[in-house]
Amino acid sequence: MKMSRQRIKFLSNNQIIDIVNNFIPQYETDLSLPVEIENLLCLNGIDIITHKDLKRTYGIESYITTNGADKIVIDSDIYMDEETRARYTLAHEFGHYILHGSFIKSQNISSEEEYFNFRKSITPEEEKRIEIQAHIFAGYTLIPQASFRCKIDSLIENLGGSKNIGIIEFRSIMKDITNQYVCSDMVAFKQLEYEYPKIYEELKDTML
Ligand SMILES: [Zn+2]
Repeated sequence: MKMSRQRIKFLSNNQIIDIVNNFIPQYETDLSLPVEIENLLCLNGIDIITHKDLKRTYGIESYITTNGADKIVIDSDIYMDEETRARYTLAHEFGHYILHGSFIKSQNISSEEEYFNFRKSITPEEEKRIEIQAHIFAGYTLIPQASFRCKIDSLIENLGGSKNIGIIEFRSIMKDITNQYVCSDMVAFKQLEYEYPKIYEELKDTML
């Protein structure tokens, strides 16, 4: 058991952020937003394959093949109709590719069946670890750190300090973030938790 747990390295948030920042341009200007996730996958040689009824048939939204041809297979309805969700899903799978590439490549996944066999072969601890890592990767991919900090810092400054952020200001900031980065409220809120823990602590109840 101890051996198998070591297949997935523990990575701190900062280690994952460093890896993301090596792949993701930091988008200094708003004009370049949102992050072009599909382009990013293309530049890394990853194809996107839509699969009709993937979710209905298999209960999953996506997975990544690792049998030499790197493809993200994604449910076609999500890809066509739910842009925000699809962007996050693609960024999440990209996270698996970058962070767990050598491990998942050794698994030779080329079909749903092989993907499920792989999932069965890992421990719950391993699964939890790879999922958390891919989620952190996805958040920082869609909301690049430097750009997010720049934006939030200037919003805080315009308001005359973070003490002046009430519920109304906070909602307006979140709306701005989700519109510009094309992400869900949950993703924007998670990034606030990572990057501005004090503000997050004060405002998290307003999200409930
Ligand atoms: Zn995953």
